[in-house]
Amino acid sequence: MIYKAVVPGRVNLIGEHTDYNQGMVMPAAIDLYLTLICEPRAGRIITVFSENYDQEADFSLDDLVPINGDPGWVDYIRAVCWALENSGYPLTGASLNISSSIPVGSGLSSSAALEIAVAMSLAAACKYDLSPSEMAVLCQKGENSFVGVHSGIMDQYAVALARREAALLLDCRNLHYNYLPLVLDGFILLIIDSRVKRSLAVSAYNRRRAECEEAVRKMSGLLKKRISSLRDVTLDDIKEARHGLPDLLYRRARYVVEENLRVMEAAEALNSSDLHSFGYLMNRSHSGLRDLYEVSCPELDLIVDTASDCPGVLGARMTGAGFGGCAVALIEAEFAEKVSMAVKDAFRSNNWPVPIIYKTFAAQGACLEGI
Ligand code: ADP
Ligand code: MG
Repeated sequence: MIYKAVVPGRVNLIGEHTDYNQGMVMPAAIDLYLTLICEPRAGRIITVFSENYDQEADFSLDDLVPINGDPGWVDYIRAVCWALENSGYPLTGASLNISSSIPVGSGLSSSAALEIAVAMSLAAACKYDLSPSEMAVLCQKGENSFVGVHSGIMDQYAVALARREAALLLDCRNLHYNYLPLVLDGFILLIIDSRVKRSLAVSAYNRRRAECEEAVRKMSGLLKKRISSLRDVTLDDIKEARHGLPDLLYRRARYVVEENLRVMEAAEALNSSDLHSFGYLMNRSHSGLRDLYEVSCPELDLIVDTASDCPGVLGARMTGAGFGGCAVALIEAEFAEKVSMAVKDAFRSNNWPVPIIYKTFAAQGACLEGI
């Protein structure tokens, strides 16, 4: 049997930098897909061809050791094999062909799509009955421990579990999740790739994580309650602790606490089909990321400001870790061209490379079929 896995990219709609604070996130799959054709065969050799890279490679399942240094694209595939084999799922050889319309390295989770596609097809080839969430956890383990990229669980969960016309509300504390209706009748999600490479992202990301941990440590001493993450902190706690906290940590912590509340409000808005309130919360999220968490950049701010000034735009925000990557806007479909033109013109006026823009909606998560 030959297997075909089709796995989408994802966009985080709201709930940024909350995942590693044991908070709430709300991604949706988008209609850009990675397709993987898997032809199992006897033996322990995996052969891979990526149409995007126009490169072929092969490796042995008996020769998988976590890498030390910059990953190549094949390492993401080796990582998934390593995670499966080390969790009690020995694999068979296979030939894998990959093609994808998800832009690589833009924050739309081409890596998670690749990982889930590999996991799904190789698990099916070996008749392992793994749930999408089990696969997501294994893929994250591979990306963290084999590739050495310390990403959260959201990406793999989103692409594995998302549903058409729904957003996924994921609680990163216990991995509980549920679906919220996102029927975009007459509206679309516009994803605007700033084309700014996220060069600062890794060091800034690690610094933000450390600042949040420091805020938790300091607040544990200031507040008369046990807190193990910013998830345990309320707005009242933040006010109470404010004067004992350095201003920087106060602003970081306040952003995270407010963002978690915004995600819950956004969930209520979707449950009552109130896209206008949802858009307002997106705007507030961006302001917090820009002013309190300080992970935006001039290009992302220009996208959000320009879009917000256009008619038909319900809300816009940067999405992903920041310092580049993409912004997402919720807009009336008939204004898509006008908003795109306005953003491109604004970039041209600054002599910046013109953004790449995708019109999308909440798409179906990963699918596998035998062909
Ligand atoms: P993203 O935001 O797109 O997930 P990452 O840096 O996390 O960015 O992952 C991108 C990496 O995933 C690429 O550098 C490559 O190693 C791998 N990858 C993604 N798509 C493909 C593809 N179609 N073919 C081969 N490798 C891919
Ligand atoms: Mg990625």
